[in-house]
Amino acid sequence: MNEVQIAAHAKINLTLDVTGRLPNGYHTVRMVMQSVGLHDDVTVTRNSSGAVTLTCDKAYVPTDGRNLAVRAAALFFEETGLTNEGLHIDIVKRIPVAAGLAGGSTDAAAVLHALDTLYETDLPLERLCEIGLKLGADVPYCLLGGTMLAEGIGEALTPILPPPYCHVVLCKPPFAVSTAAVYAAIDAETLTVRPDTDGMLAALAAGDYAGVCHRLYNVMETVTAARHSEIGQIKDTLLSCGAEGAVMSGSGPTTFGLFSNSEKARAAYEALKPVFPDTHLTELLV
Ligand code: ATP
Repeated sequence: MNEVQIAAHAKINLTLDVTGRLPNGYHTVRMVMQSVGLHDDVTVTRNSSGAVTLTCDKAYVPTDGRNLAVRAAALFFEETGLTNEGLHIDIVKRIPVAAGLAGGSTDAAAVLHALDTLYETDLPLERLCEIGLKLGADVPYCLLGGTMLAEGIGEALTPILPPPYCHVVLCKPPFAVSTAAVYAAIDAETLTVRPDTDGMLAALAAGDYAGVCHRLYNVMETVTAARHSEIGQIKDTLLSCGAEGAVMSGSGPTTFGLFSNSEKARAAYEALKPVFPDTHLTELLV
Protein backbone atom coordinates (compact mmCIF):
# COMPACT_ATOMS: atom_id res chain seq x y z
CA MET A 1 0.00 0.00 0.00
CA ASN A 2 1.27 3.41 -1.02
CA GLU A 3 -1.41 5.85 0.08
CA VAL A 4 -3.88 6.20 2.95
CA GLN A 5 -6.65 8.78 3.33
CA ILE A 6 -8.13 9.46 6.76
CA ALA A 7 -11.04 11.66 7.86
CA ALA A 8 -9.59 13.68 10.77
CA HIS A 9 -12.55 14.78 12.89
CA ALA A 10 -12.88 17.91 15.02
CA LYS A 11 -13.76 17.70 18.72
CA ILE A 12 -15.99 19.81 20.94
CA ASN A 13 -15.96 20.08 24.73
CA LEU A 14 -19.26 19.28 26.45
CA THR A 15 -17.59 20.34 29.72
CA LEU A 16 -14.20 21.85 30.53
CA ASP A 17 -12.87 22.35 34.05
CA VAL A 18 -9.37 23.44 35.06
CA THR A 19 -8.54 21.59 38.27
CA GLY A 20 -5.01 22.64 39.15
CA ARG A 21 -1.47 23.27 38.04
CA LEU A 22 1.53 20.91 37.91
CA PRO A 23 5.04 21.98 38.99
CA ASN A 24 6.06 22.04 35.29
CA GLY A 25 3.41 24.74 34.66
CA TYR A 26 0.91 22.49 32.83
CA HIS A 27 -2.69 22.85 33.92
CA THR A 28 -4.69 19.80 34.90
CA VAL A 29 -8.18 19.49 33.46
CA ARG A 30 -11.33 17.43 33.75
CA MET A 31 -13.42 17.57 30.60
CA VAL A 32 -15.83 15.66 28.41
CA MET A 33 -14.71 15.53 24.77
CA GLN A 34 -16.89 14.60 21.81
CA SER A 35 -16.09 14.02 18.12
CA VAL A 36 -18.22 15.75 15.50
CA GLY A 37 -18.77 15.00 11.83
CA LEU A 38 -16.81 18.05 10.59
CA HIS A 39 -13.41 16.78 9.43
CA ASP A 40 -10.25 17.48 7.46
CA ASP A 41 -9.18 14.96 4.79
CA VAL A 42 -5.61 13.86 5.45
CA THR A 43 -3.92 11.89 2.64
CA VAL A 44 -0.49 10.39 3.29
CA THR A 45 1.48 9.07 0.30
CA ARG A 46 4.83 7.27 0.33
CA ASN A 47 7.38 8.39 -2.28
CA SER A 48 11.14 8.37 -2.76
CA SER A 49 11.92 12.04 -2.05
CA GLY A 50 13.62 11.29 1.26
CA ALA A 51 11.73 14.21 2.83
CA VAL A 52 8.36 15.01 4.41
CA THR A 53 6.39 17.51 2.34
CA LEU A 54 2.92 18.93 2.99
CA THR A 55 0.29 20.74 0.98
CA CYS A 56 -2.93 22.30 2.25
CA ASP A 57 -5.79 24.00 0.41
CA LYS A 58 -5.82 26.86 2.95
CA ALA A 59 -2.88 29.24 2.49
CA TYR A 60 -2.86 30.35 6.16
CA VAL A 61 -1.98 26.85 7.41
CA PRO A 62 1.80 26.41 7.77
CA THR A 63 3.25 23.70 5.50
CA ASP A 64 6.70 23.40 7.10
CA GLY A 65 7.91 21.99 10.43
CA ARG A 66 5.41 24.22 12.28
CA ASN A 67 2.61 21.99 11.02
CA LEU A 68 1.76 19.38 13.64
CA ALA A 69 1.17 16.80 10.89
CA VAL A 70 4.79 17.18 9.67
CA ARG A 71 6.04 16.92 13.26
CA ALA A 72 3.93 13.79 13.76
CA ALA A 73 5.60 12.13 10.74
CA ALA A 74 9.10 13.05 11.93
CA LEU A 75 8.33 11.74 15.42
CA PHE A 76 6.91 8.48 14.04
CA PHE A 77 10.22 7.71 12.30
CA GLU A 78 12.24 8.79 15.34
CA GLU A 79 10.21 6.61 17.71
CA THR A 80 10.04 3.50 15.49
CA GLY A 81 13.59 3.72 14.14
CA LEU A 82 12.23 3.27 10.59
CA THR A 83 13.85 5.15 7.71
CA ASN A 84 11.78 7.78 5.96
CA GLU A 85 12.25 7.16 2.23
CA GLY A 86 9.86 10.02 1.47
CA LEU A 87 6.38 11.12 2.36
CA HIS A 88 3.79 13.58 1.15
CA ILE A 89 0.89 14.76 3.32
CA ASP A 90 -2.06 16.57 1.78
CA ILE A 91 -4.66 18.25 3.99
CA VAL A 92 -8.07 19.44 2.88
CA LYS A 93 -8.78 21.83 5.75
CA ARG A 94 -12.39 22.28 6.83
CA ILE A 95 -11.91 22.58 10.60
CA PRO A 96 -11.54 26.23 11.70
CA VAL A 97 -7.93 26.95 12.74
CA ALA A 98 -6.86 28.14 16.22
CA ALA A 99 -10.44 27.65 17.24
CA GLY A 100 -10.66 25.23 20.21
CA LEU A 101 -11.56 22.30 17.95
CA ALA A 102 -8.19 20.46 18.05
CA GLY A 103 -7.67 20.94 14.30
CA GLY A 104 -3.89 20.51 14.35
CA SER A 105 -4.00 17.65 16.86
CA THR A 106 -6.50 15.68 14.79
CA ASP A 107 -4.35 16.03 11.65
CA ALA A 108 -1.33 14.81 13.65
CA ALA A 109 -3.33 11.82 14.95
CA ALA A 110 -4.42 11.00 11.38
CA VAL A 111 -0.79 11.00 10.21
CA LEU A 112 0.21 8.62 13.02
CA HIS A 113 -2.64 6.23 12.09
CA ALA A 114 -1.75 6.50 8.39
CA LEU A 115 1.95 5.75 8.96
CA ASP A 116 1.10 2.83 11.24
CA THR A 117 -0.89 1.39 8.30
CA LEU A 118 1.56 2.30 5.51
CA TYR A 119 4.56 0.87 7.38
CA GLU A 120 2.56 -2.11 8.75
CA THR A 121 3.92 -1.39 12.24
CA ASP A 122 0.62 -2.38 13.88
CA LEU A 123 1.47 -0.37 17.02
CA PRO A 124 -0.93 -0.82 19.95
CA LEU A 125 -3.14 2.23 20.55
CA GLU A 126 -1.40 2.84 23.89
CA ARG A 127 1.93 3.16 22.06
CA LEU A 128 0.46 5.52 19.45
CA CYS A 129 -1.00 7.61 22.30
CA GLU A 130 2.41 7.71 24.01
CA ILE A 131 3.93 9.05 20.77
CA GLY A 132 0.98 11.43 20.25
CA LEU A 133 1.29 12.92 23.73
CA LYS A 134 4.78 14.18 22.81
CA LEU A 135 3.07 16.32 20.14
CA GLY A 136 0.29 17.71 22.31
CA ALA A 137 -2.12 16.91 25.14
CA ASP A 138 -5.11 16.57 22.76
CA VAL A 139 -3.43 14.13 20.33
CA PRO A 140 -4.15 10.94 22.38
CA TYR A 141 -7.85 11.87 22.44
CA CYS A 142 -7.79 12.51 18.69
CA LEU A 143 -6.23 9.06 18.09
CA LEU A 144 -9.20 7.44 19.85
CA GLY A 145 -12.06 9.88 19.17
CA GLY A 146 -15.66 9.33 20.31
CA THR A 147 -16.89 10.42 23.74
CA MET A 148 -14.26 10.53 26.48
CA LEU A 149 -13.71 11.88 29.94
CA ALA A 150 -10.24 13.45 29.75
CA GLU A 151 -8.26 14.08 32.93
CA GLY A 152 -4.62 14.74 33.84
CA ILE A 153 -3.39 17.21 31.23
CA GLY A 154 -6.02 15.77 28.87
CA GLU A 155 -4.24 12.49 28.18
CA ALA A 156 -5.89 10.27 30.83
CA LEU A 157 -8.89 9.04 28.86
CA THR A 158 -11.94 7.09 29.95
CA PRO A 159 -14.47 6.07 27.27
CA ILE A 160 -18.07 7.00 28.15
CA LEU A 161 -21.43 6.68 26.44
CA PRO A 162 -22.10 9.30 23.74
CA PRO A 163 -24.99 11.76 24.03
CA PRO A 164 -28.12 10.94 22.01
CA TYR A 165 -27.59 11.86 18.33
CA CYS A 166 -28.10 15.55 17.60
CA HIS A 167 -27.17 18.32 15.18
CA VAL A 168 -24.37 20.76 15.94
CA VAL A 169 -23.89 24.30 14.69
CA LEU A 170 -20.30 25.49 15.15
CA CYS A 171 -19.45 29.17 14.80
CA LYS A 172 -15.95 30.63 14.92
CA PRO A 173 -15.87 34.41 15.21
CA PRO A 174 -13.07 36.08 13.22
CA PHE A 175 -10.40 36.41 15.90
CA ALA A 176 -7.93 34.01 17.43
CA VAL A 177 -7.42 33.45 21.14
CA SER A 178 -4.16 32.44 22.72
CA THR A 179 -4.71 29.23 24.71
CA ALA A 180 -1.78 30.20 26.97
CA ALA A 181 -3.30 33.63 27.72
CA VAL A 182 -6.68 32.08 28.60
CA TYR A 183 -5.02 29.57 30.93
CA ALA A 184 -2.99 32.38 32.50
CA ALA A 185 -6.22 34.26 33.31
CA ILE A 186 -7.68 31.27 35.14
CA ASP A 187 -6.81 30.53 38.73
CA ALA A 188 -7.99 26.97 39.38
CA GLU A 189 -7.86 27.57 43.15
CA THR A 190 -10.31 30.46 43.15
CA LEU A 191 -12.76 29.38 40.43
CA THR A 192 -16.20 29.54 41.97
CA VAL A 193 -18.39 28.31 39.12
CA ARG A 194 -17.44 24.94 37.67
CA PRO A 195 -19.12 22.45 35.39
CA ASP A 196 -21.15 19.69 37.00
CA THR A 197 -18.93 17.02 35.41
CA ASP A 198 -20.32 14.18 37.53
CA GLY A 199 -23.85 15.29 36.61
CA MET A 200 -22.82 15.34 32.93
CA LEU A 201 -21.42 11.79 33.24
CA ALA A 202 -24.69 10.64 34.87
CA ALA A 203 -26.78 12.34 32.13
CA LEU A 204 -24.67 10.65 29.44
CA ALA A 205 -24.96 7.25 31.14
CA ALA A 206 -28.76 7.71 31.29
CA GLY A 207 -29.09 8.93 27.67
CA ASP A 208 -30.66 12.10 29.09
CA TYR A 209 -30.35 14.65 26.24
CA ALA A 210 -31.93 17.54 28.20
CA GLY A 211 -29.61 16.77 31.13
CA VAL A 212 -26.59 16.91 28.80
CA CYS A 213 -27.70 20.24 27.29
CA HIS A 214 -28.28 21.84 30.71
CA ARG A 215 -24.83 20.86 31.88
CA LEU A 216 -22.76 22.22 28.96
CA TYR A 217 -20.17 24.39 30.74
CA ASN A 218 -16.64 25.61 30.05
CA VAL A 219 -14.64 27.59 32.64
CA MET A 220 -12.63 29.19 29.82
CA GLU A 221 -15.73 30.79 28.33
CA THR A 222 -15.94 33.38 31.13
CA VAL A 223 -12.46 34.67 30.26
CA THR A 224 -12.96 34.80 26.48
CA ALA A 225 -16.57 36.06 26.57
CA ALA A 226 -15.55 38.96 28.85
CA ARG A 227 -13.02 40.06 26.21
CA HIS A 228 -15.11 39.39 23.10
CA SER A 229 -18.84 40.19 23.00
CA GLU A 230 -19.23 37.97 19.89
CA ILE A 231 -19.30 34.83 22.10
CA GLY A 232 -22.47 36.04 23.88
CA GLN A 233 -23.94 37.21 20.57
CA ILE A 234 -23.42 33.75 18.99
CA LYS A 235 -24.86 31.96 22.03
CA ASP A 236 -27.94 34.20 21.97
CA THR A 237 -28.51 33.48 18.27
CA LEU A 238 -28.06 29.71 18.74
CA LEU A 239 -30.49 29.62 21.69
CA SER A 240 -33.06 31.90 20.07
CA CYS A 241 -33.05 29.62 17.00
CA GLY A 242 -33.89 26.64 19.21
CA ALA A 243 -30.59 25.15 20.44
CA GLU A 244 -31.25 23.15 23.62
CA GLY A 245 -27.78 24.16 24.86
CA ALA A 246 -24.82 26.30 23.72
CA VAL A 247 -21.25 26.76 24.98
CA MET A 248 -17.74 27.70 23.85
CA SER A 249 -15.37 24.82 22.91
CA GLY A 250 -11.86 24.44 24.38
CA SER A 251 -10.03 27.74 24.74
CA GLY A 252 -12.33 29.13 22.05
CA PRO A 253 -13.43 31.14 20.34
CA THR A 254 -15.62 28.57 18.51
CA THR A 255 -19.04 28.43 20.14
CA PHE A 256 -21.52 25.68 19.32
CA GLY A 257 -25.15 24.78 19.88
CA LEU A 258 -26.82 21.36 20.12
CA PHE A 259 -30.13 20.83 18.30
CA SER A 260 -32.43 17.82 18.33
CA ASN A 261 -34.33 19.38 15.40
CA SER A 262 -32.53 19.56 12.03
CA GLU A 263 -34.64 22.47 10.70
CA LYS A 264 -33.86 24.60 13.74
CA ALA A 265 -30.16 23.75 13.34
CA ARG A 266 -30.31 24.85 9.69
CA ALA A 267 -32.08 28.09 10.68
CA ALA A 268 -29.32 28.86 13.21
CA TYR A 269 -26.66 28.05 10.59
CA GLU A 270 -28.35 30.39 8.10
CA ALA A 271 -28.69 33.17 10.70
CA LEU A 272 -25.01 33.02 11.70
CA LYS A 273 -23.28 32.27 8.37
CA PRO A 274 -23.70 35.77 6.79
CA VAL A 275 -22.30 37.41 9.96
CA PHE A 276 -19.64 34.80 10.76
CA PRO A 277 -18.51 33.00 7.56
CA ASP A 278 -16.66 30.33 9.57
CA THR A 279 -19.96 28.71 10.63
CA HIS A 280 -20.59 24.98 10.08
CA LEU A 281 -23.60 22.72 10.26
CA THR A 282 -22.59 19.25 11.43
CA GLU A 283 -23.63 16.48 13.81
CA LEU A 284 -22.35 14.44 16.72
CA LEU A 285 -20.28 11.43 15.70
CA VAL A 286 -21.94 8.73 17.80
P1 ATP B 1 -6.70 23.01 20.37
O1 ATP B 1 -8.19 22.83 20.43
O2 ATP B 1 -5.93 21.70 20.45
O3 ATP B 1 -6.17 24.09 21.26
P2 ATP B 1 -6.92 24.71 18.17
O4 ATP B 1 -8.16 24.34 17.42
O5 ATP B 1 -7.07 25.82 19.15
O6 ATP B 1 -6.38 23.44 18.89
P3 ATP B 1 -5.27 24.50 15.85
O7 ATP B 1 -6.33 24.56 14.81
O8 ATP B 1 -4.62 23.21 16.10
O9 ATP B 1 -5.78 25.12 17.22
O10 ATP B 1 -4.20 25.62 15.44
C1 ATP B 1 -3.33 26.20 16.39
C2 ATP B 1 -2.08 26.69 15.66
O11 ATP B 1 -1.39 25.56 15.15
C3 ATP B 1 -2.38 27.60 14.49
O12 ATP B 1 -1.71 28.79 14.72
C4 ATP B 1 -1.82 26.89 13.26
O13 ATP B 1 -1.07 27.75 12.44
C5 ATP B 1 -0.92 25.80 13.82
N1 ATP B 1 -1.02 24.49 13.12
C6 ATP B 1 -0.06 23.57 13.07
N2 ATP B 1 -0.46 22.48 12.39
C7 ATP B 1 -1.71 22.69 12.01
C8 ATP B 1 -2.66 21.92 11.27
N3 ATP B 1 -2.37 20.70 10.78
N4 ATP B 1 -3.89 22.42 11.11
C9 ATP B 1 -4.19 23.65 11.60
N5 ATP B 1 -3.33 24.43 12.28
C10 ATP B 1 -2.09 23.97 12.49
